Amino acid sequence: MPDSDLIPSMKPKPHEPTPGARTSRPGAATPIEAADAQHRKAAGVGGLFEAISCGEVFKAAVHKEVHKDPSVLEIEDFKLWYGDTQALFDVSLGIPQGKVTALIGPSGCGKSTLLRCVNRMNDLIDGVRVDGEMRINGDPIYGSRVDVIELRKRVGMVFQKPNPFPMSIYENVVYSLRIDGVRDRTSLDEACEHSLHAAGLWEEVKDRLKESALRLSGGQQQRLCIARAIAAEPEVLLLDEPCSALDPIATSRIEDLIEDLKGAYSILIVTHNMQQASRVSDHTAFLYLGRLVEYGPTETLFLAPKLKETEDYVTGRFG
Ligand code: ADP
Repeated sequence: MPDSDLIPSMKPKPHEPTPGARTSRPGAATPIEAADAQHRKAAGVGGLFEAISCGEVFKAAVHKEVHKDPSVLEIEDFKLWYGDTQALFDVSLGIPQGKVTALIGPSGCGKSTLLRCVNRMNDLIDGVRVDGEMRINGDPIYGSRVDVIELRKRVGMVFQKPNPFPMSIYENVVYSLRIDGVRDRTSLDEACEHSLHAAGLWEEVKDRLKESALRLSGGQQQRLCIARAIAAEPEVLLLDEPCSALDPIATSRIEDLIEDLKGAYSILIVTHNMQQASRVSDHTAFLYLGRLVEYGPTETLFLAPKLKETEDYVTGRFG
């Protein structure tokens, strides 16, 4: 994107340290930054965050590398309103096939809203209206002819809090196959074993498949939910802060699992944890107040973002 397309406050930040800048106290503005902020305020020039708050139109900083892989999911000029309140503004991004893409941003910036749009969970909320395009492998997600039940088979979802059904471990995993009318015992057994293997849970539960899923630990329950989601062989797997209710060990197992699932599955994960985003994802999209701000390879976004605002957020100086 040429610099001329950007509003003034969005011009790429210089990566060279500002002469005289102090870096010793993270979070504290240097004298030069403070003076700059005062100058900009006096001149009526706000930062990008201020511009967004004022509803200024801008183009997100999208790194060209994100277009390298084919997209499993294409999101174009997507907008969403809860009643009269707009929560997503012109969001455009392609989610690459077989990769992990993280959505980050301060609480309330629309990460979960965007995630829920992919399997049309927001349809269940009164007063929600959307505009723009979303496509999964080229097929529209929105539109009067879309069968939402079929769509949800193509898009698996795992929530913050593990939510196994009150039934056996086995029945949880084969649930989607039963709904599809699969009755053949061998097919069900194979799908169960395959999915539990893929979710890294087989060794722990192979001798207790008939036990209630509710007797598993929180971390095991979350891996079971992932097994249940992948048993349906989804084209996209949505993870909405999947570790937020888990202890560090269970969190680390889920992160390892995400790494293992990569390639075979295309994963879109919401996380408020910067370290987690940097550990598990290939690409990261930074949202602010319902807008996409910057989208690029995770390493670049964390180490050399195009925008100073992204750097401030990922380094914890903002938000
Ligand atoms: P995040 O996941 O980034 O924390 P959300 O997607 O949950 O953000 O929320 C984005 C915005 O939409 C927030 O202002 C939130 O208050 C609003 N919002 C979320 N869910 C609803 C809802 N069911 N009804 C009305 N507003 C909502």
